[in-house]
Amino acid sequence: MTNSTHSTFLNLLQAALVTASCLLAFPIPAKAAEINASIEIRSQCLNFENDIRSSLKTLLQDDSVVFSTLKIFYPKRDLSILAKVPIIIEDFGPQKQYRGFYGLHEGDQKKSLQLDCALGSRLVWSGLLAHEYAHILNEQQNLSSWMDEMLAQLIEINASPFYPYPRTDILKNHAMTPSFFSADKPFKTSEAYASNMLFGVYISQNFRGYRAYQELNHNIQSVDQFAASLKKYTEDQAQFDWIRDHISGENLIIYFNLALNVNRVTKNGSYLYAVPGWNGFSKESLISQSGKYFIEPGGSLRMSAAMVEQSAKADTISKIAPIYRVLKNENEFKIQNPQDDYDASKWTENFLVLINTSLNNYLQVDI
Ligand SMILES: [Zn+2]
Repeated sequence: MTNSTHSTFLNLLQAALVTASCLLAFPIPAKAAEINASIEIRSQCLNFENDIRSSLKTLLQDDSVVFSTLKIFYPKRDLSILAKVPIIIEDFGPQKQYRGFYGLHEGDQKKSLQLDCALGSRLVWSGLLAHEYAHILNEQQNLSSWMDEMLAQLIEINASPFYPYPRTDILKNHAMTPSFFSADKPFKTSEAYASNMLFGVYISQNFRGYRAYQELNHNIQSVDQFAASLKKYTEDQAQFDWIRDHISGENLIIYFNLALNVNRVTKNGSYLYAVPGWNGFSKESLISQSGKYFIEPGGSLRMSAAMVEQSAKADTISKIAPIYRVLKNENEFKIQNPQDDYDASKWTENFLVLINTSLNNYLQVDI
């Protein structure tokens, strides 16, 4: 009897303790843990050693903007593996085009994540660190280099205090849009990075945000595979709309290029013809002279309507690649075949977009 009372008392005590610990578990959030990467600060940066250490301490907490962003894109991954990669802080100098790098250190061949310590770079360290960590996590997935770069750039802008990104400025003076799916690693031009990043933003906007990438970022080698994977995602999400029904590699190329060039939200608020955060091409960049143009696979050329005025010329060009006339007025726009008639009194501004839907070949046009 005593024994039984005793054990009941113990059970009650145990139950009370369990309840107390459950109650405690909810209101008090777990303290953020620090990712214990080894940090090496090279001599040129030692003047700022205190600032550098305190910035990194903040950024390497597992609830920092860097790790919170990585958790959105890689919800099932063990991020503690990132602690194994040493971080080297050094002065990149003005000759390098980038401010963060993951790979073999060019001096001592040590595989590491390298960050530039100039003040301007330190201001965007959260984005740079998230970008390079994304590349490290992507190493274990079978991705084409443009998918790898697109994810890294999206993660970067999400972890960065700045968006729209200055990176897109370089693109705005062009009439020829580069490919977003270049196979080069690293890409040969800054314009290719800008286009690749904007494509990622475009897809996020039209496929219900970044959740799509959680399902997609494995084994994608081509634009067609990316489209097939997106199609499956929209079916799983029961996203029944126009985009889902028209999705293919070729259509991703067409709609992204139209969106870059048109850059207007439709009347019903759809971003099908706009890219969030992209300010658009500057007007002056429209090509007005004849010549030979080589358009990258997946890229486009924006021409003034006068260049292909005669329908015969538009007809010839549209036989080699899709071509669209973009008509605008103050509050609306429409897209039609260049051969179709339009009411010039209503539509005051127009241009034509020629799109190279090839996945491999440059398109040559003589205008
Ligand atoms: Zn990168």
